[in-house]
Amino acid sequence: MAALKRCMCLLSLISIISTRTLCDTVTRREEKLKHEASTLSSSELRSVVAQTDLDRMWQDDLKPMLVVRYPGSSGSQAVQQHIKSTLGSLKAGWEVTEDSFYAHTPYGQLPFTNIMATLNPAAKRQLVLACHYDSKYYPPQWDGREFVGATDSAVPCSMILELTRAQDEELKMTKDSGSEVSLQLLFFDGEEALYQWTSEDSLYGSRHLAHRMSTTAHPPGTTNTNQLDAIDLFVLLDLIGGPDPRFGNQFSSTTRWLSRLQNIERRLHALGVLENHPNEVQYFWPSQHVGLILDDHIPFLNRGVRILHLISTPFPTVWHTFDDNQENLDRSSINNLNKILQVFVLEYLKKKSQNPVPEDS
Ligand SMILES: [Zn+2]
Repeated sequence: MAALKRCMCLLSLISIISTRTLCDTVTRREEKLKHEASTLSSSELRSVVAQTDLDRMWQDDLKPMLVVRYPGSSGSQAVQQHIKSTLGSLKAGWEVTEDSFYAHTPYGQLPFTNIMATLNPAAKRQLVLACHYDSKYYPPQWDGREFVGATDSAVPCSMILELTRAQDEELKMTKDSGSEVSLQLLFFDGEEALYQWTSEDSLYGSRHLAHRMSTTAHPPGTTNTNQLDAIDLFVLLDLIGGPDPRFGNQFSSTTRWLSRLQNIERRLHALGVLENHPNEVQYFWPSQHVGLILDDHIPFLNRGVRILHLISTPFPTVWHTFDDNQENLDRSSINNLNKILQVFVLEYLKKKSQNPVPEDS
């Protein structure tokens, strides 16, 4: 009703055509803020988490990603191909597009490619999951070892791919149901500084894509709204895979979604489907304030997008060292976080039922 009243006021001021567009914008903004996730029953939760498979993720996604993959490298090409072929093989029918460009870096002009995958591009609103697939560049003279960035960010990208595979059927059903909210995946290139972090030497891919999305009309053909307006919530995963991950709160505007993750963690703990998880809450801490961390969300945050930044704080002890590799990953927490994230996404996308099933059913 509030949206309707505001729209009625606007009618007297501007032409009917542009009013309709503004009404749509106001309505969409309010829909985003008021969006309510559904709550899966215990049996539904059990069947959702039973579909994820850590060994499959390890074999099919993580291993192919644990290569040197700085922008322009052959490893980067291989990982791009892996992401595209994985999404292309799924039943849900993802629309996959690339955002390729050259940018000036301390090492000269380098090529960058972001990958964007959208479940239903025609949907009015999008829940975004994002990660960066590039690895930090270390010149060969460092000590001959290779930096493969397991937590930074091969694991987060693998978690997103595993989610699409494990929940392929459910995501297809959501798409086929004509839901107003769809899922969009952003795989950024060039998050890392090539030489030393500055505003110019960092976030190459996210800066480029945020600008591009801000100038791309959504829905297609409109003049007043763009692809950033379509984002309900931008969930960025980074530095995940080390032991004892903790996610604090950087943004009061999205506290309720961090609380939602904590609620899912509690529910899955109560069902006994989380491993090595002695306390009902170990990962998500909405009441714990964390200062702003520079990462791929910044170009989106600066344009008014609502952010949920899932980054381990403190950072993993292996952060930006050659020990950020497969041997130092914590399988249990990755598996648990896969389950929590998959429930979060399905509950977010699923239309809230008129007669919700009680949580303890
Ligand atoms: Zn990094």
